[in-house]
Amino acid sequence: MAQPEVHGARIGEHGTRTRFVIDISEAPKYSIFLLANPYRVVIDFPKLRWNLPANAGQKSDGAIGGFRFGQFKPQTSRVVLDLKAPAVIEKVFVLDPKEGYPYRFVLDLRTRERSAFLNAMNTWRPPTPKVTAKPKVVPLLKPKSVGERKVVVIDPGHGGVDPGAISVSGLREKDLTLTMARELKKAMEKAGRYKVLLTRNSDTFIRLRDRVEFARESHADLFLSLHADSIRNRKVRGATVYTLSERASDKEAAELAEHENKSDIIAGVDLTGESDEVTTILIDLAQRETMNFSAQFAQLLVPELSKRMRVRTKPHRFAGFVVLKAPDVPSVLVEMGYLSNRYDERLISAPSGRAKLVGAIIKAIDRYFGDRKT
Ligand SMILES: [Zn+2]
Repeated sequence: MAQPEVHGARIGEHGTRTRFVIDISEAPKYSIFLLANPYRVVIDFPKLRWNLPANAGQKSDGAIGGFRFGQFKPQTSRVVLDLKAPAVIEKVFVLDPKEGYPYRFVLDLRTRERSAFLNAMNTWRPPTPKVTAKPKVVPLLKPKSVGERKVVVIDPGHGGVDPGAISVSGLREKDLTLTMARELKKAMEKAGRYKVLLTRNSDTFIRLRDRVEFARESHADLFLSLHADSIRNRKVRGATVYTLSERASDKEAAELAEHENKSDIIAGVDLTGESDEVTTILIDLAQRETMNFSAQFAQLLVPELSKRMRVRTKPHRFAGFVVLKAPDVPSVLVEMGYLSNRYDERLISAPSGRAKLVGAIIKAIDRYFGDRKT
């Protein structure tokens, strides 16, 4: 059976009511729940085909500050409405095709006080499987025997319902990071020295902690998260390499980490009960040694990048990125450049530009494993 196709989505303000409408080729099944901190409405559909421009959700009207859409799980598509203020669902229904309109999914919201929202949140929430708490001390994985191929996990940032940054011309960070990850994997495997795994190989959402767990379970020797974010100052350009630290090296790094750590929130994941683990970055003893290796790799990568392309003035920065938190896998986050800058956008979206990045990363990885005495 063909996937239902979405070919329109809009927000409208009607007096005290905010209406969200999706035009869709079939009457969809759906489930809805609310999340607080920040206020969100999450709508899950079966897998849909999204025939919408990348920036379709960057609109604000009434109670809705914008929305995100995309794949959440293999068989689930998700829409997350970001609310400007607490609002409750007044009505939700599907209209049959009429007068040239296709099926329409309609959701009406009314702004209410926080207590009403929290009340409604409990009414709308579907039963969720219990998340069992992870033990505080993470056992370190056994080192592998010598002679095995090194395992490198590449993590294309964002995905599915979380698009990441969107450039002026409509390019999405989640697509560029995936393209880059595939190209890097291909080039690295050619040499036959590495086993390369991707945290995702399709346009789907992966929680930050699941990316970290994937690296650990794969016994990765190195974890590389790829990003191409936006920054307020559109003139800023160049690559940056980030490693984990409790204290950020500068305000910009702190802001970026805070933004990246919101990925799960953007995707409408309920973080109630695990917020401590996710929001605070506490670094244990085992992690410190790993952090040294991460920093070593960053210091090898920076000169290779700067030989081939522009890098930021302080090209190695530190901050509390959740995705870099594996206690036993050296991890770096590479900001390939900024989608808010037109030169960087051009570089990252061109195969020749990405080839420079690929070249720099492989050179640094070769040197890292060549120099490392393990
Ligand atoms: Zn990003």
